[in-house]
Amino acid sequence: MAYDRSNVFAKILRGEIPCNKVYEDELTLAFHDINPQAPVHVLVIPKGEYVSMDDFAANASEAEIAALFRSVRTVAKMLGVAESGWRMLANIGEHSGQEVPHLHIHIFGGRPLGPMLVRH
Ligand code: 5GP
Repeated sequence: MAYDRSNVFAKILRGEIPCNKVYEDELTLAFHDINPQAPVHVLVIPKGEYVSMDDFAANASEAEIAALFRSVRTVAKMLGVAESGWRMLANIGEHSGQEVPHLHIHIFGGRPLGPMLVRH
């Protein structure tokens, strides 16, 4: 899947729409989810143009990969959930329900998070 520069996180990275920023460095940006599913719900994204974790793991540099995972940890500590526990999640493709085609890692926390998946 080719990267679509009109996706909403690309617009946030270009400063075309606002975000409630938590953390930023040279290679990553973290901001609060607009529709939080937990008391803490933050998205951490690479600044590079990657559709998903599949695209990122295949094509990103070692520096970009390290930076994203370091940022996730930094953000969890900044938000005060490092001690109590938290969850990270990345949706990839159709069956996951991925809505925005720019890789994003969700960080959830602030309460017990329940089972990993909805049981059908
Ligand atoms: P996905 O389902 O793709 O894993 O998650 C997309 C997430 O992006 C959703 O949790 C949704 O609430 C969030 N989101 C969609 N549009 C915006 C936006 O314009 N700003 C922010 N901060 N979050 C957004």
